[in-house]
Amino acid sequence: MLLALITAFSLLGSVGAIAFAGVFLLFPERTRASLIPGLISYASGTLLGAAFLGLIPNAIDRLEAATVLQFVLAGVLLFFVLEKLILWHHCHNEECEVRETSGPLLLIGDAVHNFVDGVIIAAAFIISVPLGISAALAVIAHEIPQEVGDFGVLLDSGYKKERAFLLNTLSGITTVPGALLAYFYLREVQGLIPYIMALSAASFVYIAMVDLIPALHRKAGIAAGVRQFALMLAGVATITLFHLH
Ligand SMILES: [Zn+2]
Ligand SMILES: [Zn+2]
Repeated sequence: MLLALITAFSLLGSVGAIAFAGVFLLFPERTRASLIPGLISYASGTLLGAAFLGLIPNAIDRLEAATVLQFVLAGVLLFFVLEKLILWHHCHNEECEVRETSGPLLLIGDAVHNFVDGVIIAAAFIISVPLGISAALAVIAHEIPQEVGDFGVLLDSGYKKERAFLLNTLSGITTVPGALLAYFYLREVQGLIPYIMALSAASFVYIAMVDLIPALHRKAGIAAGVRQFALMLAGVATITLFHLH
């Protein structure tokens, strides 16, 4: 039963999000441009909610609070270094634009990232089904705008639509092996789970604060700001539903 849930949610968080992103690309440019910030706002709310209401409290139930927070801090620093490493690799000239991600590099980065998302989903489900669903929702919500962006980069670097879809699906599906490996391994080594929870929380906080929220600040205006904040709160509220005690 647990295995079926983990498989279903990691499929939704990978192939499901990619399919949804593909449908999104069929919308006219203007519709897309107005929907994406909404999705990003909602996703950042679910990520922060899942980290602070789900993952961190659950890790603190099993480990000393100070240790958990040290792992969250280490995770944030680790994700910074990882992101730097990926940027160094595709930076050849002195000044280069972060946005100039190449197709192959994007696909590799995506594969690694989605594998980690799979580990997070499985570890959360092993602790409890509500925690699993809240973590999986945060994954699905951030993966949709993420994959829309991936398609944009692939199409811009000259890939045909079908090829972009195939490659993005292949790189994105790593969520499933990530989840399955974590499920079989972590059931044997349960003591590792709280550490994984702390690192997962770091990953969620990092994605929300570093990748998603800065994109929201590019749009000025009170109305846009209020809508973004309301959707962010809606994301947090959705996660709250899974952590009512
Ligand atoms: Zn992700
Ligand atoms: Zn992708």
